[in-house]
Amino acid sequence: MSGDRDVTVCLTFDFDAISIWVGPRHSRSPNLIARGEFGEVGANRLVDLLDEHGVPSTWFIPGHTIDTFPEVCARVAGAGHEVGYHGYCHEAPSSKADEADERALLTKAMGRIEGLTGRPPVGHRLPGGNLGERWARLLLEYGFSYDSSMAPNDFAPTYCRLGDVVRTDAAYEFGAEVDLVELPFDWSLDDWPYFSPEPHHDGLRSPNEVFDIWASDFEFVYRKLGTGVFVLTMHPQCIGRGSRLLMLERLIAHMKAHEGVRFRTMAEVAAEFRATRPLVTATATG
Ligand SMILES: [Zn+2]
Repeated sequence: MSGDRDVTVCLTFDFDAISIWVGPRHSRSPNLIARGEFGEVGANRLVDLLDEHGVPSTWFIPGHTIDTFPEVCARVAGAGHEVGYHGYCHEAPSSKADEADERALLTKAMGRIEGLTGRPPVGHRLPGGNLGERWARLLLEYGFSYDSSMAPNDFAPTYCRLGDVVRTDAAYEFGAEVDLVELPFDWSLDDWPYFSPEPHHDGLRSPNEVFDIWASDFEFVYRKLGTGVFVLTMHPQCIGRGSRLLMLERLIAHMKAHEGVRFRTMAEVAAEFRATRPLVTATATG
């Protein structure tokens, strides 16, 4: 029976465009920059596709992309898609020298998103690096609702923690949960390793093969778990090419054909999780 199924699909797009090549990769190669530039073409196609199928989505857009490609970013926001934080020029937080630099980065990149959508972002995805404690505390201070950079549970939201203690002579010590929701991100549900040719991985996989992997993971959530959040991470410069875009269209139609499946933004999912499973903070009793 499928009547009791409640599965949420979050289509997410990291619109890195040129920022990933000239920022963390330090490249000035016209060939690589062209790959990033193609992201604008891909993003326009994606906005059309999402509109055609009536599905909401979440875009993590670096400020550099908003400044470089304002028209298509305005199309994304104008179509009602959520826009979340992804650095200014795709910086890992750990690349900043100190907290003052991190605050300046947050203010600059968040300001670009606020200029685009009229409000500050509530969603955050690391453009590389790790979610360190100092950065996580800043995300809480700056009003973020959720992060989507790791997956302690592959198909369910969790709360981030602060104060973990790494021990090798005894059990790992988990810190306290904080009011920052973690929505799953995993490389197996990301188009970059499959579709971005790099020296260390193939990157030219068949769209049919990737359809099989993603559809099988979706089937697992739907049939075995019955409830969950299925998060796909894609990049317009990867997924925006013809055969891959057709594969995504086929996957959207496949998932929509299942009863009890909803497409939602990550902000909606995080808000619902927080409402249904409120954070329990340790309080002194007496
Ligand atoms: Zn990125």
